[in-house]
Amino acid sequence: MSTIPKIVILGAGYGGILTAQRLQKELNYNEADVTLVNRHDYHYFTTHLHMPAAGTDSIDRTRVPISKLIDEFKIDLVKSSVREIRLSDRKVILDDGTLSFDYLVIALGGEPESFGIPGLAEHAFKIRSINSVRLIRQHIEYQFAMYKTDESRKDRLNIVVGGAGFSGIEFVAELADRVPRLCKEYDVDRKLVHIYNVEAAPTALPGFDPELVDYAMELLAKKGVDFRLGTPIKECTKEGVVLASGETLHAATVVWTGGIRGNRIVEAAGFETARGRVKVDEYLRAPGLENVFIIGDNSLMFNEEGRPYPPTAQIAMQQGVICAKNVVAAIRGGQPRQFVFNHKGTVASLGRGQAIAVVGDKKMKGWSAAQMKKLVDLRYLFIIGGIPLVLRKGRIF
Ligand code: FAD
Ligand code: NAD
Repeated sequence: MSTIPKIVILGAGYGGILTAQRLQKELNYNEADVTLVNRHDYHYFTTHLHMPAAGTDSIDRTRVPISKLIDEFKIDLVKSSVREIRLSDRKVILDDGTLSFDYLVIALGGEPESFGIPGLAEHAFKIRSINSVRLIRQHIEYQFAMYKTDESRKDRLNIVVGGAGFSGIEFVAELADRVPRLCKEYDVDRKLVHIYNVEAAPTALPGFDPELVDYAMELLAKKGVDFRLGTPIKECTKEGVVLASGETLHAATVVWTGGIRGNRIVEAAGFETARGRVKVDEYLRAPGLENVFIIGDNSLMFNEEGRPYPPTAQIAMQQGVICAKNVVAAIRGGQPRQFVFNHKGTVASLGRGQAIAVVGDKKMKGWSAAQMKKLVDLRYLFIIGGIPLVLRKGRIF
């Protein structure tokens, strides 16, 4: 008697949701049992988190119930946290149970990388999840409210963002839009508020197109962002941050956007990892394991020049599609498909009505790039939820 193979997908982010949806489409009735495990019963748009973090958009527009994205007659959704992956036993240990698998897809996403900088874990906020950004927004509002009860604590009005990569830049841009509104609401003089963006490299967005970087920095500086470039944060304390230059920035709010790493659960499973990411083969399989697939921020793949692809939603989504095909091929004894990344471009928002973008060999900035950002976001909503999701969550105007 043959048994139905069990497929377990860990994580319902960009990679996990795409894998689940494609499996649901490609598998025949009773061909496999598919289980999707996620810490929350909603899928959130990590690529939007900088907005609710700054308070320029709502939490509601940044997430969607997973039940609206999958067919629960075809996929079991388990809302739980993964604690441990036991490869040799083919088991996954959850907070409240154990799952066994024949095929495993690991898509748990990354974690903030703090490079061992003292104090960051304890004192800095991170833009990682719905819960973490809700905390940032509320903390900033609380600091403004507290300032009005004791105006000697000027540091309550200072915000330090550590790292001027894409996450840092997109976040300070939203903050620059939000601060004037906060000042009005809390009767605070705008001149007393400081938004610092500290970057270790000599420029913001290191490695990105220099003309667009200049455009972004000029725009943000005009909106009141104070850049500290070429000087890493070397310590974070209750009072703020200490820079390698010797300067101390006093701030009641420190948000760390200094980089991400892979996942510690994946590291603990015994894979060989580079900063928590597993170098997968061209079929997205873990080294030496034909039944374990690793995608998104947990995986490491290299371009033709031997440089690692940066961890993005774009690559996670494309991997999800191929991963589903390869799981189905494995079950049916077919040929797996090679994953080839199709880099469609990079678009970074700079707050309301502003963005920068490189799409193919075309550079864009300002309003046209902001429209491109909207299109990218709408396209994603369409891919995972069709027109109904575009209408419910999309920012059309
Ligand atoms: P995620 O999307 O992070 O999904 C992981 C899922 O696993 C989550 O649902 C999480 O809740 C769940 N999970 C984690 N741990 C557990 C556990 N132990 N148990 C159960 N469930 C768990 N990339 C772009 O391409 N374009 C952008 O514009 C862009 N903007 C970004 C803006 C910000 C502010 C940030 C932080 C990142 C941005 N990125 C962007 C990067 C992109 O978001 C990530 O590369 C992408 O989310 C990775 O997808 P993933 O599927 O690997 O993981
Ligand atoms: P990142 O690694 O891209 O940038 C982190 C920045 O922090 C770097 O510029 C680094 O030099 C700086 N840094 C590191 N240590 C520091 C220190 N001690 N002090 C000061 N600065 C320090 O991380 P990210 O911006 O979170 O991006 C993570 C991934 O998500 C990347 O792959 C990125 O491409 C992607 N992403 C894409 C978009 C987009 O396409 N719009 C937006 C956000 C994130």
